[in-house]
Amino acid sequence: MHEMGIVLHLAKTLDEAAEENHITKYGSVTLSVGEVSGIMTDYFTDCWDYFKSRHPLLKDSVLKLETIPAVTFCSNCEKNYPTVKYGKTCPYCGSGETWLITGNECLIKEVEAETSDGSEGVVEQEADDLN
Ligand SMILES: [Zn+2]
Repeated sequence: MHEMGIVLHLAKTLDEAAEENHITKYGSVTLSVGEVSGIMTDYFTDCWDYFKSRHPLLKDSVLKLETIPAVTFCSNCEKNYPTVKYGKTCPYCGSGETWLITGNECLIKEVEAETSDGSEGVVEQEADDLN
């Protein structure tokens, strides 16, 4: 269960952020999910819903998912191209010397939260790359 593992990892990150920022409740959590991260968003949402019902900080939170387009770099001709359309072969020169630049990540982009001093705010943070 890849997705549930990611949910648990994210929840741990959110727990730590809550402790640091005196957050009592999360309103929304926005995730950026790479196009080729292998995360199935429907299943991921199911896992999230299952988990959050058992997690007081996240109980009333809304999960928002954004897709990060996958981009591959060709080291032969030094061009970038869309990974999903062309895969590992460069469409410009036909080289296989290509590297995925972006599209394999799952990051917390933004959260809305209530804090113990009664204010509502948006916390932006850099989450670590799961891959
Ligand atoms: Zn190329």
